[in-house]
Amino acid sequence: MKHSLAALALVALLPLTAHASNADKAVKGMPGDPDKLFAQLDTLLPTPGVTRTASGAPGAQYWQQRADYRIQVTLDEKRHRLSAKQSITYMNRSPDTLNYIWLQLDQNIFRDDSLARRSEVAANAGTRRDTVGSGDSLSFAAMRRHQAFEDREYGYEMGPVRDASGRMLRTTVNDTMMRIDLPTPLRPGTSIEINFEWQSNIVDEAAIGARGGYEYFPKSDTYQYFLAQWFPRLVAYTDYTGWQHKQFLGRGEFTLEFGDYDVEITVPADHIVASTGVLQNPDAVLTAEQRARLKRAETAKKPVFIVTPEEALANEKEGTNRNRTWRFKGENVRDFAWASSRKYIWDAMGYRQNDAKRPFVMAMSFYPNEGEPIWSKYSTHAVIHTMEVYSRFSFPYPYPVAISVNSWERGGMEYPMVTFNGYRPTADEKTGEVTYSRSAKYGLIGVIIHEVGHIYFPMIVNSDERQWTWMDEGLNTFLEYIAELEWEENFPTFGDKTNVLDFITAYMQSTDQVPIMTNSDTIVQFGPNAYSKPAAALAVLREAVMGRELFDHAFREYSNRWKFKRPTPADFFRTMEDASGVDLDWFWRGWFYGTDHVDVAVGDIREYQVSSQDPDAEFPLKRQEFASNWPESYSQRQNRAEGLKTRVDRYPELKDFYNENDQFVVTNKDRNEFKDFRERLRDWERTVLDRAIKAGEYVYFVDFKNIGGLVTPLPLTLTYADGSTEEYPIPAEVWRYNALEVTKLFVRRKRLVSVELDRNHLIADADKSNNITPRRIEQSRIELFRGRDRERNQMLDALAELKGEPKAEKTEGAAGSNNVPLQPVAK
Ligand SMILES: [Zn+2]
Repeated sequence: MKHSLAALALVALLPLTAHASNADKAVKGMPGDPDKLFAQLDTLLPTPGVTRTASGAPGAQYWQQRADYRIQVTLDEKRHRLSAKQSITYMNRSPDTLNYIWLQLDQNIFRDDSLARRSEVAANAGTRRDTVGSGDSLSFAAMRRHQAFEDREYGYEMGPVRDASGRMLRTTVNDTMMRIDLPTPLRPGTSIEINFEWQSNIVDEAAIGARGGYEYFPKSDTYQYFLAQWFPRLVAYTDYTGWQHKQFLGRGEFTLEFGDYDVEITVPADHIVASTGVLQNPDAVLTAEQRARLKRAETAKKPVFIVTPEEALANEKEGTNRNRTWRFKGENVRDFAWASSRKYIWDAMGYRQNDAKRPFVMAMSFYPNEGEPIWSKYSTHAVIHTMEVYSRFSFPYPYPVAISVNSWERGGMEYPMVTFNGYRPTADEKTGEVTYSRSAKYGLIGVIIHEVGHIYFPMIVNSDERQWTWMDEGLNTFLEYIAELEWEENFPTFGDKTNVLDFITAYMQSTDQVPIMTNSDTIVQFGPNAYSKPAAALAVLREAVMGRELFDHAFREYSNRWKFKRPTPADFFRTMEDASGVDLDWFWRGWFYGTDHVDVAVGDIREYQVSSQDPDAEFPLKRQEFASNWPESYSQRQNRAEGLKTRVDRYPELKDFYNENDQFVVTNKDRNEFKDFRERLRDWERTVLDRAIKAGEYVYFVDFKNIGGLVTPLPLTLTYADGSTEEYPIPAEVWRYNALEVTKLFVRRKRLVSVELDRNHLIADADKSNNITPRRIEQSRIELFRGRDRERNQMLDALAELKGEPKAEKTEGAAGSNNVPLQPVAK
C-alpha cells in the first residue's frame, strides 16, 4: 500500500481516469475473454421442449419407461454360483414404437473377451484397491486378479428368452448388452412380458474387484455374498438419447428404469439375508425371538440386536445342507441388490420422520463379527443421520427400510434401500487385540453417509450414471460433506482437511484435467473430478455465490422436480437458476465446462484524500509528499556530514528570492485561480467537495489480478487502522469487462490498513500467499535433516546372518554369486 496524501484532481469531478483506459482496453481486446466467460449457456445445452422445459423442470409430455421384475434365484454356496428364473414386464410409455428392446448383462464385463477387459490399459489392470503403479510394474493384487480370471469363467449363461405365450424371441448379445427382437413392434402404451433363465459364477471380489461378489474369511472358513448387478436388467430408453446402451466399461455406472420387484432368494437355511425391499415371509425365515426384537426396534432409542454378536458367532460355526427362501418386494425402485451370510450380526432402529406418507423407516445394519466394535456403535446411527440431513435438502425418505451391510474392506456401493459399506477394525495377529485407526472410524461413518445418501441421488433422483458421474457422485459428495459436518465438528472428510475447498485446490491446479462435463468412462483423475470438484463447486455456490437461502430452495426444487424421474445436467443447471433468480451461466461454464482454477491476487492499493485545491491548504501537503517521494540526495547529506560548506553558504550574498521560496510557496496567482475554480463549480459540486473534505474521506483504488483464470466472487475482509473489520463480498460479475484484472474503488471515512481475499476459505482460491495487501511474512517451523549416505557396503552386507537358516547354507544364500570372493569364512 502506498501512503500518498496526493493532491489528486477532485475525484467526483474527474472520475476514474485510470479506469477509463482500462475499460477501453477491455471492450476492444476482451482480456480473458469475458464475453465468452459470461455468455449464456444456451449454445451448450440441449434445446428445451415438451419433455424438458427451459426452466429445468419435466415438461408437460415428460415420459419414462417402466420395468417390473419377478425373479427366483438360488445361491449355491459350494460352487459360488447363482441360478435364476426371471420375468420382466416392460411398459412402453414413450411416444415411440419399439422393434426391439435391450437388456444389460453387466456380469459379462468379467468375460475374457469383454470390451472392458480387452481395452484395459496396463496402468489400470489391477483391482479397485491396488492398481499397478506407473512405469512397468506388476502388483501382487494385479497378478492375483489375472489368476482368478484364469481359474474360472464369468458372465451370464443365458437360456432362451420367451414371451408370455412361450414363444422364443431372437436375441443378439453385444458384449454387456443384449438385443431382443420383438415379433410384433411394441406400440406406445403397450407392454410385453419376457421370461428366461440364467446362471452365473459369482466373482471373488477381493481378487477381481467388483461392485459385488463373495468375500472369504480364512480364519473361520466362512463366506459372505453381496450381489449387485447380478441379474439382467432392462436398458433405459430415454427422450434424450434413445437406448442408453453405452457398454459397461466399469466406471460409468447404471442407467435404469423404475419398477416393482418381487424376488425370492433361496440360500442355505442358516443364512441371514439383507435386501432391497420388504421381507414378505418373516414367519418362515425368522425366529419368534427375532421378530419380537424387530418389533421392539421400531420404537427403540438406540439400535436393537435382531441377531446378537454371540448368536452370529455360534451361527457361523455350524453350517447346513438345507435351504430356505426369503421373499422380498420392492416398490418403485430402479434396481435390486442383496447380501447373504451365516456370519451376520443384525441390528435395527426405527426412524420417525415428518411425512404423512412414510412416517416410519426401519434403519438396519448387517455385519460379521469382524466389523465389531465399530459397526454396532456407528452403522445404524449413520444410516438415520443421513436420512435426517438429506431429507432437509431434498424430500422425505420414501422407502420403508434403509440398510447398511459391511461387505468389504474399504469403499462402498449403493442400491435402492440397501448399501454395501467397507471399513473394519484390525485384530492383532498374535494377541488378537482389536484396535481401529482414525481413518477406519471416520471412513466407516463417511462411507455409510455417502452410500445411504446415494439412495436419494441417483436411486430416486435417477440421473444417467452411464453418462455423467458427477450428477450423482458430485451432488451426493456435497451433501455427504454437509451431513458429516453435522455429525461431528472437524469431521475429516477430505484427509486432514475439514474444508472441501482446501482439498480441491491441488487438483484444480493440476495439468492432466478434464472438465466435470466429461463422459464417465473418459474421466482422468476420477475421484477429484467427479466427486470432490462438483462438491466443492456446490459449496462455493451455496456459501459464496447464492447464499444458503437461495441455494437451499433451488436445490430442494431440483430434488423434488426430479425425484423418481430422470434429470440431465441441463435440468440441474436450469433449475438452480430458475428457482433462485441468480444468473449462474458463468459459474457452470467455469466450474463444469472448464479446467481453470481459482487464484486471484490482491494487488496494489492506492490511497487518496480529496483535495480542496486550496493552495494554502494543499501546497504544504504537496511539499511533504514531494519530500517523502524524493528524499534529499545521499551525496548532499554525506557532504554535510563531512562538514563540507557550499559556495552559497560561504558567500551568503549569492542568495535571492528562490533561496527563500521553494516551488510550494503559494502565490497570489495561485489564490486567484483557486477563487476562480470555486466560482466555476456548480452548487451541487461545491456541496459534494465541501462534504468530502469535511468528512475526511479516504479514497482507495484496489487492484485484483485473476491468475487462475476461473472467474470468481471476491469475498473481502477490509481491516481499518482502528482495528475494526468489514466483510465486503464482490460478486463474480466484477470480471464481466475484463476477466484478467480489475480495479475496485472504495470510499471510506476510516483509514484502511489491509485488504484480504477469502479469509474464510469460501472460493477454493489456490494460492493464499497473494491474498492480502500488504503481504504477510509466512511463518512455519523448519526441521533440520541429516544427509543420507547411500553408498552400499557390499562387504558388510555379506556378513549379515541369514534369518532362520543353518549356518552352512546361509553364506551361499545370503551372498549370492557376486559375493563369492567375499564369503565370510570366520567371525
Ligand atoms: Zn458414490
